[in-house]
Amino acid sequence: MKVKFLKASNGDAIWITLIDEESKPRNILIDGGIGSTYQSKDKKGKAVFGDLGHEIENLKKLNEVDCNHKIDLLILTHVDDDHIGGLLKWFEQDPSFSKLIGKIWFNSGRLISEYIHQKQQDDFDIVLNIRDNNNTSIRQGATFETYATTNQLWERRLILQEQEHTVFGLTFRILSPSKDRVQLLLNKWKSEDQSLNTSKSNDYSKSIADHIKDDQFLEDDSVHNGSSIAFILTYGTKNFLFLADAHPSVIIEGLRHFGFDSTKRLTAEFVKVSHHGSKFNTSKELLKILDSSVFIISSNGQIHNLPDKQCLARIIGCCNNPKILFNYPELTAKIFTKSDCDSNQFLVGEVSELNFNCD
Ligand SMILES: [Zn+2]
Repeated sequence: MKVKFLKASNGDAIWITLIDEESKPRNILIDGGIGSTYQSKDKKGKAVFGDLGHEIENLKKLNEVDCNHKIDLLILTHVDDDHIGGLLKWFEQDPSFSKLIGKIWFNSGRLISEYIHQKQQDDFDIVLNIRDNNNTSIRQGATFETYATTNQLWERRLILQEQEHTVFGLTFRILSPSKDRVQLLLNKWKSEDQSLNTSKSNDYSKSIADHIKDDQFLEDDSVHNGSSIAFILTYGTKNFLFLADAHPSVIIEGLRHFGFDSTKRLTAEFVKVSHHGSKFNTSKELLKILDSSVFIISSNGQIHNLPDKQCLARIIGCCNNPKILFNYPELTAKIFTKSDCDSNQFLVGEVSELNFNCD
């Protein structure tokens, strides 16, 4: 199994490939980053593909030869632009997208409202400006949900904490969202997110040692982040933790449901740290339940100055000799001083892709 952490600016886009038990190629995409992760314009106005665009173009070529090559499962963790933007851009630019997708996991506002029997609101819809086939005019008003439903990509099934799904020989144990968090989302759907994550300056001038000494945890209050789909992915005997932008108290509830706590910790090959390394999304209580030495930060440091050094200090303080890997490794020189590296036990490095055997 290969896991690629695409360059998605301040967002997430994670591409997993594997050969399943029946020797079929499988692709799973978790989120699509911001719009430019799929495509942007260069200075001359020419369209250029980002990492997601390149992956999709490669997949299209394989699909032309063998239609088994597609994104078998697309997981949209939540509706923030840094997770959905690249997907919307792809769908709008490329009318053939539905041929390349097997199925989608997505908790839409409308589906949540049906589930908790609360009145529907029109602004639950995510509108797509899909191009017509001649690629000149734009068809207004198709929604993400209707498009996914009419193309039979979406089963309209809520993905919730405590569920266990087996797909292509992989097991997904869902940690987040809880019922409570999706209920909260209905009242906030697409309204402006007044959360702890408003813009702020970075905390990089303070040393790791001082961050560890002065640490106080406050949890993220963003309703959108709290609705994130987060899970333990199991491949053979190996576990991987994909935490999207989920809230740590919800992740802990989920881990407890599956039998993990500080006395019976979850062993994981890596942890995709929640919310791009925000200090509001990783608590010591959570870290104490995890037995992992690899922590992955998906962020280019733009918007909200994530990761927070305080979050990284918490990982360094709680975990034994952790390896913190960045998909934008140039950030490490901004964050860590020589003295941080000399006086604390941790490693930093770059991550673009990781490979794992099934055993
Ligand atoms: Zn995010």
